[in-house]
Amino acid sequence: MGEIIKGKPVADKISEDLIKEIKGLNAKGINPKLAIVRVGERPDDLAYERGALSRSKKVGIEAEVKSLPEDISQEEFIEVIKELNQDKNVHGILIFRPLPNHLDENVIKNVIAPEKDVDCFSPVNQGKLYEGDKTGFPPCTPVAVMEIFNHYDIELEGKDCVVIGASNVVGKPAALLLLNENATVTICHIYTKDVAKLAREAEIVVVACGVPRLVKESWIGEGAIVIDVGINIDEDGKLCGDVDFDAIKEKASMITPVPRGVGSVTTSILAKHVVKACKMQNNIDIDKSIAIDNIDESAS
Ligand code: NAD
Repeated sequence: MGEIIKGKPVADKISEDLIKEIKGLNAKGINPKLAIVRVGERPDDLAYERGALSRSKKVGIEAEVKSLPEDISQEEFIEVIKELNQDKNVHGILIFRPLPNHLDENVIKNVIAPEKDVDCFSPVNQGKLYEGDKTGFPPCTPVAVMEIFNHYDIELEGKDCVVIGASNVVGKPAALLLLNENATVTICHIYTKDVAKLAREAEIVVVACGVPRLVKESWIGEGAIVIDVGINIDEDGKLCGDVDFDAIKEKASMITPVPRGVGSVTTSILAKHVVKACKMQNNIDIDKSIAIDNIDESAS
């Protein structure tokens, strides 16, 4: 049986590092802050919001929620974003998407300040992702996938990777991040002729297609590494991923579960992006740690 690689140890390590880093910021009189912008009350948004608020609290990031009515006008919505852009105390802005149809994302993506855009809404951050520019903010979920590779020492250079799913929020950015690490990447989507054949030949398969248990055991090569980004509710009302976990875990060398896999890491990436944004806005080198360890009072 393959190793089941869980998200919690990854999230815990990121949180532990962030707590020290935030103490370092606090010592300089800087308090990182996230603003979450939610329109309406979609259950998915509310669930993610709860996770983001709890993670922020755990690591010491201040967080506020702008809960806006479903019928807010585009002008009023843009006004809220502009105010957050200008608020010196706010370092990161997360806007839940998709927005209702009457709010034009193609306009709004150009309003959010790129340096506060912690989940890659702005075309500036999309461009930075394309270029592999580390000062940008790729979407949190594919970065969570990359953190899992990093945490479990999974080498990517030269590896044959297949990404199943090509959305702008998960599949495409995951493929670019893998390419930026010198993996050889094939992207599959709904129009791909033979996804199973391509996946079977891969050493690493990242799945984000939103179809419950689409990926079967016969799609995976012996010893492959399988990362399941999917979050679905199956016909029995049970949470499940995009891969047939029970069958594939016997064949893969490593596999992420659902729940307790990629999803557990995403909010810690959001927190990490807020801290990075905060450092950049305060002219602190993002590659330089300013971490302060807990002061052991019993030592003196
Ligand atoms: P999406 O619907 O926007 O995109 C799905 C992609 O999969 C498309 O590119 C589509 O062409 C492709 N696809 C669909 N059916 C396919 C098939 N039969 N064969 C090959 N490709 C197929 O979905 P998304 O927003 O990218 O989300 C994907 C999954 O990831 C969903 O299950 C979603 O719930 C989950 N998700 C998880 C997190 C997290 O934090 N873990 C975050 C975002 C999304």
